[in-house]
Amino acid sequence: MTTSDKFQQYVLPTYGRIPIIPSKASGTKLWDENGKEYLDFCTGIAVCSIGHCHPRLTKAIQEQAETLMHCSNLYLIPNQAELARMIVEDYVKIPGKVFFSNSGAEANDGLIKLARKFGHHNPAADGKPRTEIITLDMSFHGRTLGAMSATGQASIQAGFSPILSGFHYAILNDIESVIEKISDHTCAILLEPIQGEGGVNAATPEFLTQLKDLCKKHDLLLMFDEVQTGFGRLGNDMAWRAIVDGIEPDAISWAKGLGGGFPIGSFWVNDRVINDEDFALSSVLGNKTHGSTYGGNPLACAAALAVLTEIKESNLAANAVNQEQRIRETIGSWNLPQVSEVRGKGLLLGIGLNPEAFHLMEGKTPALELMLRLGDAGLLTVAAGPETLRLLPPLNVTDEEVDQALVIIHEVLKGL
Ligand SMILES: *Cc1c(COP(=O)(O)O)cnc(C)c1O
Repeated sequence: MTTSDKFQQYVLPTYGRIPIIPSKASGTKLWDENGKEYLDFCTGIAVCSIGHCHPRLTKAIQEQAETLMHCSNLYLIPNQAELARMIVEDYVKIPGKVFFSNSGAEANDGLIKLARKFGHHNPAADGKPRTEIITLDMSFHGRTLGAMSATGQASIQAGFSPILSGFHYAILNDIESVIEKISDHTCAILLEPIQGEGGVNAATPEFLTQLKDLCKKHDLLLMFDEVQTGFGRLGNDMAWRAIVDGIEPDAISWAKGLGGGFPIGSFWVNDRVINDEDFALSSVLGNKTHGSTYGGNPLACAAALAVLTEIKESNLAANAVNQEQRIRETIGSWNLPQVSEVRGKGLLLGIGLNPEAFHLMEGKTPALELMLRLGDAGLLTVAAGPETLRLLPPLNVTDEEVDQALVIIHEVLKGL
């Protein structure tokens, strides 16, 4: 039975899979089972942040797996404590506390629980808990019932009603649309600094500043979903700081690049005081309010520690800034009718495509068509919606690899 046949027979068909069978990878390169070599600018969708099988990461996992793979959160886990310290002190740089989960959707579910609990602590004027959360159209927060309900895309929620109640969807970079959704029972705003799945759409500095002011005015939590954008990808340790300086979020979620390929998610909660009794926001989720059997286990934390240490020591956020500039300059110089613009920041870049410049087979979007052709030509990428091709190389991608990828993209676009 071939791999494809086994998928057909035994795996739920929740993904439209491309017929590539990866067999090994190293750095920015990936090989399929026939030995064909690819440059990987998909990286498991922004997961392999320091490249495939980075020696530092592989060694950390091997050593931890031989020493202590798992133990319960009933005990003190040194790796977990050190990873939390590193996230707070070296990355967020705002006093706060961290929880560890296994995925991005779970991290966002944690943020939703935090917001609800906060809304119970600081209720509305009528004494009722505040339970409504504002998120954005075209957002993506994950596939669990909670994260899916936060996601502002009808297609993702279709057929699963009733979804979790209390979500209201505003429009990115339209502060009036957010103000319209605020009621006495709103407790939080959750958004991605740059929408990844939704098409690589960036929040503007003005919008983020206006949101912070609104949150202050209405006693709402400002929560960032940095699952795709966090830890250097946008050219800054923190995604929101790559867009605007001087605002402070209340909570942030991460996953994807944090483990470099090992599954781990996390969220951070600000230590700031939320009511008259010196009660900290980071105390809202107290003993027995949340948990995860695997979350923050020794193996996952060893992996994430290796990744975050490597990002810092090799200054990979700076490389993201540098490579963004090189990619933008080159694509800008092509003047091709197929390309409308380049969006995004750092190494989360979206090439906007002109559908008129594509001759499409039925059922194919420009982004899918281009992604498949690039794959044939030896470059792995990923679509972000129907008309955006996303580039997500590892944060340590070299000049030479970027140049190679750009040559492939240029050739394929010209040949369309
Ligand atoms: C991928 C993603 C998620 C979901 O993460 P999973 O690990 O797949 O659950 C949530 N938010 C954003 C912004 C993402 O890109």
